[in-house]
Amino acid sequence: MKLYENKTKNRTVAMIVCFVFAIFCGALSMLVESHPDAVFGIGSMVLPSTSFLGLIQALKSSMCIMMVCFEYKMGRKLAFIFMTGSMIFMIIGMIRKGEMSALPGMYNTVLTAVSILIISNQLEKSDKRAVTDYLTGLRNRRGLTYLIESKVREKKLFHVVYFEIDNFRTINDNLGHKYGDIALTSVADHLKELEDEESVFVSRIGGAEFAAVVSGNIEPKTFAEKVMDKIGSSITETEDGFNISIALSVYAGISSFPENAENVDDLLKFADIAVFNARQGKDSKVAFFNQGMRDRFERQIELEKMVKESLIKDYFYLVYQPQYEIKEKKLRGFETLIRLKLPDGPTVSPVEFIPVVEASELIMKIDSYVMRRAMKEAKKMVELCNKNIVVSINVSAKNISSPGFVDEVRNTLEATQFPPECLEIEITEYSFAKSKEITIANVKELRTMGIQIALDDFGTGYTSLSQVMHLPISLLKIDKSLVDDIENNQVNRDFVDAIIYMGHLMNCEVISEGVESMEQLGLLKDHECDFVQGYVWGKPMEYDKALELCKKAS
Ligand code: C2E
Ligand code: CA
Ligand code: CA
Repeated sequence: MKLYENKTKNRTVAMIVCFVFAIFCGALSMLVESHPDAVFGIGSMVLPSTSFLGLIQALKSSMCIMMVCFEYKMGRKLAFIFMTGSMIFMIIGMIRKGEMSALPGMYNTVLTAVSILIISNQLEKSDKRAVTDYLTGLRNRRGLTYLIESKVREKKLFHVVYFEIDNFRTINDNLGHKYGDIALTSVADHLKELEDEESVFVSRIGGAEFAAVVSGNIEPKTFAEKVMDKIGSSITETEDGFNISIALSVYAGISSFPENAENVDDLLKFADIAVFNARQGKDSKVAFFNQGMRDRFERQIELEKMVKESLIKDYFYLVYQPQYEIKEKKLRGFETLIRLKLPDGPTVSPVEFIPVVEASELIMKIDSYVMRRAMKEAKKMVELCNKNIVVSINVSAKNISSPGFVDEVRNTLEATQFPPECLEIEITEYSFAKSKEITIANVKELRTMGIQIALDDFGTGYTSLSQVMHLPISLLKIDKSLVDDIENNQVNRDFVDAIIYMGHLMNCEVISEGVESMEQLGLLKDHECDFVQGYVWGKPMEYDKALELCKKAS
């Protein structure tokens, strides 16, 4: 199987034209040689046959060099066949005539052959470079693309196995790029060991992403597991006298030709989607691409398109869910929740589109939109309630952990003249996992501006209470999943009790969200939870209804 491909139709045609012209020149030179006394001329200009021969020789050489430039592999072969033929003719001619007349022609041919060798070697090297990964020496993405294209042309069953090293960023972050490179080279070496010329071809297609094309008797899942065993166990490399051992966690996704797709882009894309699913699955670290994945993927693309269009055409709006003090059912404020309503289409839930856009920069645009719109709309509510309410907005982990976030909040507050003490920003613990230092700095600065910070979905993740204690949080939001079963589940009840107790120790207030029944409400009241948000006292409502609620409360 070729490592690279420099063929295009046009180049092949140009090479053939050069070859035919070189043959024509060869025949012409033989004809001229058989008439040594002839004189060639146009008008008064005359050219003796020896000079004419020289001209034809030069043309022959140029044609051979051009052949190589157009197509160095086939061109080189044809040029050498042609030049060997010319040499044989010249030698036979000299022997027959018993003179050395063809010596200059032979010299010219040898010089041309050397030039061709140099040019074709350089072209071959630069082509190889273009398809080779600089770090590992494996095929790169381009090389893989050529390879798959030629496999597709063969029209035989094959599989693309995509490998992703899960914890690679941690290695780079914790040990440094030098060790990251060592890890990647080791992975490449393991893959090279499994490569053969017939049925296994390996490549590195991105940072910590590798791919293999397998065919013939090789079963792709077994192959993937073999690779994972080799890579995943532990890698030891000796560098400057150091022995290092890095454990890597690898996921694999498989797409098949022709079953899943018949072109390179889709085969790679689908194998990538399969890896994504393997990461989310619990049973296996290897996943085959299937129809369900394709449907989900297409829905994601559709949602992304919908969100982009809605941002331009303003199809988003906000609803407001009331929060109450638990003891006297006094209005504490509202959580703003985004909604998407296409004209003549259904309302799309944020549960569907937020996770999709969170993977891209679109989430930043959504957050900005919500911030601006919420402050603009809720200003009236705040005024009606004499600034005695809080309006909270959800901010994604990507946003709160970005350096420009506080400035954006400051500018929006200024532009809308919204009182900062009535603003609450809801973040989740994932924000701290992303970029802890920036997030903490941002949260601290927002607190000094008088803005409140709520930690959303508390109790679902991995943040321990002791970690939260050091964060400048003003409100803990107990997740609905913990409240759901509180009437029947003693463990949940104890857990909620502990969160409320600890929250108060940390000078935080505590709210329970997703409270649906009076029984849950009663229990939370007993546990001295401060606030409540849930269907039991109010579903998310449109702006006008929320305004009315403010009027009643004022
Ligand atoms: P969240 O921030 O945890 O929001 C609470 C969700 O629980 C809301 O769903 C709300 O309608 C729902 N909920 C509240 N009380 C009850 C209840 O008693 N029973 C039940 N079954 N559900 C209740 P929603 O509006 O569909 O939002 C879902 C998620 O989407 C939010 O979870 C949040 O993560 C995200 N989201 C919503 N709006 C925004 C936004 O403006 N910006 C960002 N970044 N994310 C948002
Ligand atoms: Ca929330
Ligand atoms: Ca929540």
